[in-house]
Amino acid sequence: MKIKGNSISKKTVMRIIAAILAIFFILATFISVLPVFVGAEGEGISYTNGRLIRVGIYYGSTAVSSIALTSDTGFEIGTFDTATSTFYKSLSCNNTAVMAVISSDGSRISLMTPEGAEIYSQTDASVPLTLRGIGENAEITAAENTYRGCIELAYTEGKIRVVSISYLEDYVKGVTASEVYSSWPAEALKCQAIVARSYTLYTAGKHNSDGFDICNKPHCQSYNGIGPVADSIDAAVDATKGLIVTYDGKVALTTYCSSSGQKTESASSAWGSDPEAYPYLTNVDTGFNNTEDYVNGKWSYTVSAEELAEYINSKPNYEGILNGPVDRIEYERKEGSDYVYRLTVYDAFGNKIVVEKSATVRDFLTQYCKSACFTISSHCPVYAGESKEYMLDSQNMYVITAEGEKVLSVPGSTAVEALTANGLKTMSSAGEKVFTIAGEGYGHGVGMSQYGAMTLAENGYDFNYIIGLYYPGTQIVDCNSVQIN
Ligand SMILES: [Zn+2]
Repeated sequence: MKIKGNSISKKTVMRIIAAILAIFFILATFISVLPVFVGAEGEGISYTNGRLIRVGIYYGSTAVSSIALTSDTGFEIGTFDTATSTFYKSLSCNNTAVMAVISSDGSRISLMTPEGAEIYSQTDASVPLTLRGIGENAEITAAENTYRGCIELAYTEGKIRVVSISYLEDYVKGVTASEVYSSWPAEALKCQAIVARSYTLYTAGKHNSDGFDICNKPHCQSYNGIGPVADSIDAAVDATKGLIVTYDGKVALTTYCSSSGQKTESASSAWGSDPEAYPYLTNVDTGFNNTEDYVNGKWSYTVSAEELAEYINSKPNYEGILNGPVDRIEYERKEGSDYVYRLTVYDAFGNKIVVEKSATVRDFLTQYCKSACFTISSHCPVYAGESKEYMLDSQNMYVITAEGEKVLSVPGSTAVEALTANGLKTMSSAGEKVFTIAGEGYGHGVGMSQYGAMTLAENGYDFNYIIGLYYPGTQIVDCNSVQIN
């Protein structure tokens, strides 16, 4: 292109350059004070598209001295400002795998390549080091579990405390995926998403003193990251986004369990809670009891008196109380409950152990029961001959014959006569007593039964009906309309 040499004066050119420079400096100033909106180094990435949750992954006694992290898109490394839900990047790296290691004196956390070269190190123990995968919704894997959002690595007594910072909705997807089968009907998956979300918001804060909201153990809710989430679960969580269960305008404690038989258990019978505190965690008769098809829906265990005493004697807090085999077991339920509230175990010398509250009873007998919704019967095998075994309880005699077990009615006596192949024999109670614990349901039984929700959903009921049934008197509302503690 041809330009006429004298068309624009030199002075004018200088003025234009000065103006351009001035605009540039003004822009540069804005860039430095508004890092959130522009792509400068140290920029902030806002996590304000929903409620965040901080989940403790390794902490306290499980804090680590090193941890492997992977991200398919590489990492952004920096810090996370919890007050503003903003990640501030210090640097990016293209490595898809790094190892975070704390120095032996606990003064620095280094990020290393798998080959051992240092990428970055943080020496300010007051500021946790935070990593995220590059890109929106990028996943990041810490010790083989996959998370969305950020992974925070903090100094804690010479070890690294690992916390996942993610959107509540992503966390709920991970919990729902690990709690129920993705093949279940959509309404059952929605129920699980809503009760998990409510339970999370009710319990969030349990671990404030540990530096996060909730832990990843059953103590709070089991959480192994987002993992590969099925489309059905993704859809169920999205369809119920933000919905929680409330009672009297406050978020409800939506405890749930695998299954509960026909009736659910109350919080007062399970844990001794004040019945006024959780009126929605009461004994609900669901009206159906086809639990045979559920995993651990119906079950029974048989254990000898001696084995049971050994088991009880090995339990913390109960060692050495029983002096010999268990002689008898008594149990009672609270009015309206199908679960055993008080269990009393005796030996032959009158020593006894009393266990109260159905959740404690279940824990006490955990090796021999799946829930405290059970009955216990005892049998005493007796012998009439060398190769013949007979089972005797107060009502019936179970004779094991060549054709299998046969039942004979006998009076409540331990000395009975039986006609055997070798003629009439008097049987003595030479055998050891055995106890059979038979019951239904898996878990504490309080609140929603997951399998029950599945059955109801299969029968065409929606999440409003199912949650209303298991938590009577509650409402389902958006979490943003409720004050959460
Ligand atoms: Zn916890």
